[in-house]
Amino acid sequence: MQLVTPQQSIKDEITLSIIVPVFNEQEMLPIFHHHLAKVLSTQSESSFEIVYINDGSTDDSWNIMLDLESHYANIECINLSRNFGKEAAMTAGIDHAKGQAIVLLDADLQDPPELIPDMLAAWRQGYDVVNMRRSARLGESKFKCWSAHVYYRLLDYLSDVPLQKDVGDFRLLSRRVVEDIKQLSERSRYMKGILSWPGYKQTTISFERPERAAGETKWSFIQLVKLGLSGITAFSIKPLRIATWAGALISASAFIYGFWIVIKTLIFGEAVAGYPTMMLIQLFLGGVQLLSIGILGEYVGRIYAETKARPIYLIMDKEKNSMMNAMAKKHG
Ligand code: UDP
Ligand code: MG
Repeated sequence: MQLVTPQQSIKDEITLSIIVPVFNEQEMLPIFHHHLAKVLSTQSESSFEIVYINDGSTDDSWNIMLDLESHYANIECINLSRNFGKEAAMTAGIDHAKGQAIVLLDADLQDPPELIPDMLAAWRQGYDVVNMRRSARLGESKFKCWSAHVYYRLLDYLSDVPLQKDVGDFRLLSRRVVEDIKQLSERSRYMKGILSWPGYKQTTISFERPERAAGETKWSFIQLVKLGLSGITAFSIKPLRIATWAGALISASAFIYGFWIVIKTLIFGEAVAGYPTMMLIQLFLGGVQLLSIGILGEYVGRIYAETKARPIYLIMDKEKNSMMNAMAKKHG
């Protein structure tokens, strides 16, 4: 398969970078690499690189990566100093990738490497972003599928940036999009939003997302809720506006209701009554106030994290081979 685009003049330029964040995937890595290598075997050796990012795995993932790196060509391994989370690991990969096109891939084969040639074909037709839409999610609970469905639509409604529904991190990005994304230095990193932010010419390919081939999902329900909240607060200020509108609406209703009570007392001379109504209103208002303060706190917390401006990730080790030194290592 010919990978080099017409605009590519330098022969050795890397055409495709595959970025793979890895957290405790010791069972998956050899199987994953085998699949990926099979797909890439159709490409010329110098035209691709695989960037594995070890996101602070506590199992043998890093050693397995190093082993892969010593046996196969064009692999770069990055070892983060601890677990920074998938969003930070992908950021590290994006910062290091040199390809004219980059593809973000999970290590559990839920993003099938077999689709990469189709993504490249779309890129060669001139698209800057190839979104991979999940038309079905196999092996996931009904609740997860339903909540993901609702969440993507809610976020799209709230967000000021158009976000693609049912599209995860699995996408292809052209070099110019990658360069733009590298300028987004926010700490609160919701990658699905960040990847969508630059825009450009986009296309979507649908696929059925298979089950994880081995190992377990790294996300607990609480972590998914946190990620979801970070997506909303990072890409929308509508919740603050909703709180303001709710406040305005409740104040207006309270004014009308108060007016009614005054009239009622003046006309009918009604004495103290209505304990249940009072309790209900107090509790309702207390709830709305706490909720609004909570929403405000979410945004203040994000400002706090941004002002500290800590690095998004730290690199402990880096190993990179070329085709030549992979061969040398293999034979020596
Ligand atoms: N991952 C990571 N850091 C984390 C959690 C996950 O790098 O803190 C990687 C993980 O190794 C995998 C990808 O992110 O390659 C997707 O994770 P997972 O399959 O657990 O997510 P799910 O598919 O269940 O959403
Ligand atoms: Mg997965």
